[in-house]
Amino acid sequence: MAQPVDSKLPDIGTTIFTVMSKLAADCGAINLSQGYPDFAVPERLLERVIHHLRAGQNQYAPMAGIPELRQQIAVKTEHLYGRSTNPDTEVTVTSGATEALFSAIEAFIHPGHEVIVFDPAYDSYDPAIRLAGGKAIHIPLQTPGFGIDWQRVDDAINPATRMIILNTPHNPTGAVLTSDDLSMLADLVQNTDIILLGDEVYEHIIFDQQPHQSLLLRDDLASRSLAISSFGKTIHATGWKVGYCVAPENLTTEFRKVHQFVQFCVVAPMQYALADFLANEPEYVIELPKFYQRKRDRFCELLAPSRFTFKASAGTYFQLVDYSSISDEPDVDFARRLTREIGVAAIPVSVFYERPPPQQWLRFCFAKGESTLVAATERLCKI
Ligand code: PMP
Ligand code: GLN
Repeated sequence: MAQPVDSKLPDIGTTIFTVMSKLAADCGAINLSQGYPDFAVPERLLERVIHHLRAGQNQYAPMAGIPELRQQIAVKTEHLYGRSTNPDTEVTVTSGATEALFSAIEAFIHPGHEVIVFDPAYDSYDPAIRLAGGKAIHIPLQTPGFGIDWQRVDDAINPATRMIILNTPHNPTGAVLTSDDLSMLADLVQNTDIILLGDEVYEHIIFDQQPHQSLLLRDDLASRSLAISSFGKTIHATGWKVGYCVAPENLTTEFRKVHQFVQFCVVAPMQYALADFLANEPEYVIELPKFYQRKRDRFCELLAPSRFTFKASAGTYFQLVDYSSISDEPDVDFARRLTREIGVAAIPVSVFYERPPPQQWLRFCFAKGESTLVAATERLCKI
């Protein structure tokens, strides 16, 4: 008989992204569930990877990331958010945003601490908080716009509150924070020891000329924030798992204490290639919102004749849809049936809630080429 295991996460199964991508593969369905592009990374970037692989950049990189890449991240941060950062003491390259989020939570959350998260919340936050001995306080975003109810945040803050996790642009709803939100946040956290964890992986995927409201924009927020991003989203290479964390020196010092034992360092040739790419093509990230806005518009245009109802996403490469005029099945069941019978996989949104609301929502990923978008929406318009 197998030895009994005292699970630290007894209620946690395999993530919905793995479950739905596997189901899509098993059924031969078009996979609009897990978020990843189905088009190539820029050719110039691939050329730089090959160059650095052949040049021998195949050993451990420095623990905090190669200086060239940290420097480029500092340049980008200054250019986009007006914040000057010291690349040696305030920028850390991580193994994707997932590792950065985990390391940040482990570094600052002690047993008994509370962390405010907003539902629907990205699925890695709550388990990481619990593994650190903390407690996630789930506050639902307000419908229909998925804005933050700041009164509820104010009510939830107490001496045990150590962190607030903010995700903008927001996965899975596509909502974005406004500058008024940042002002409310600043008011609420002043005179507290609350640390802000900004999940800003979609910082460059934001539409309709809206500026991304980074925690790095304001001194009063940046001084207590860790801002996390991911090259997976920005350069269409989710499989490289290269992300980063920008934070003031006192927070970065603690962050690196964990990072060095979770990951130690990040894949070297990709870091060199990314540093070259950012240095040579600074306009790339400026163009990205337009690139993805065209995809969003195309997907919404193709889906418009269907019975799904939706409001076009303000950011991210996801579109939230309501399927209540098609079916009253629970979303997990409907997403499975859609994959098996219609041949399109999506993510059921209830899994991102502590207490799922009665709504019937699915999330589709539109980071796909024209032929995938056309084939998927043809199927979706038939039900
Ligand atoms: N946060 C959010 C909101 C995400 O959507 C993702 C991945 N799609 C991550 C974090 C993790 O990013 P990475 O793949 O770089 O680990
Ligand atoms: N963040 C991606 C999504 O939202 C998935 C990442 C993962 O599979 N861990 O689809």
